[in-house]
Amino acid sequence: MTAPAGIPAEIFPPRLVDPELAEVGRRLFAREARFVAGAPTASALPCDTLPEIAFAGRSNVGKSSLVNALTGRRTLARTSNTPGRTRQINFFDLDARLMLVDLPGYGYAEASKTEIKRWTALLRRYLQTRAALRRVCLLIDSRHGIKEVDYPLMHMLDDAGVSYQIVLTKTDELGAGELALIAERIRGAIATQPAAHPEIHLTSALKRRGIVALRSTLASFAVLTAPPTIVAAPARPR
Ligand code: GDP
Repeated sequence: MTAPAGIPAEIFPPRLVDPELAEVGRRLFAREARFVAGAPTASALPCDTLPEIAFAGRSNVGKSSLVNALTGRRTLARTSNTPGRTRQINFFDLDARLMLVDLPGYGYAEASKTEIKRWTALLRRYLQTRAALRRVCLLIDSRHGIKEVDYPLMHMLDDAGVSYQIVLTKTDELGAGELALIAERIRGAIATQPAAHPEIHLTSALKRRGIVALRSTLASFAVLTAPPTIVAAPARPR
């Protein structure tokens, strides 16, 4: 009997990643991610042009580090952390195939009530109206699991019917047994959340764990045909 083809993936429950999709993911994320827009208010949201994947999580969860590990560059997260851009929704075009959307980190102790209200309204509007949004990666620190501060977003995603997937960060901090336990606990917690995808990605930006599997999952949402090359027609002789 031959062994099943595939790359063992850091996904809970475990499964193999299709090597072809892993290659598609590798190539896609090797391309340039270009900052296209930042929306501090709902009226500034750009038009939907590409399938979108958004990244969300409380501040300090490891979002910048994970996005850097996925895209292999620092520009994307640095752009999102530029003063003035941290409290807005930032859009990055990945090779005209996928839009990566960085949602502002929540749970800041120092955030004012007005700021929380403004950001909640912006986020709700984005989630409820974005036809192109295919999935939200909800980042959770594997050392802490899902916290109270994560539930308002999970409820918003459920209400808006937006598919989301838990991505555990900083898994290098835990042993295999602890990791299995936390993944199982999270599986129990999301079982009753209608919009939650049952598969949990286990990642470490530091040790580059789970990056191939996450890229493969996200690549499955991308536009696969090459963007058309527009060649100017030669001028006709009059
Ligand atoms: P953000 O606020 O969500 O963008 O989080 P950052 O990416 O800035 O990371 C917050 C902190 O977590 C920093 O001190 C990082 O060094 C640390 N961190 C991020 N990713 C990892 C990881 O994979 N493993 C470990 N051990 N620490 C990490």
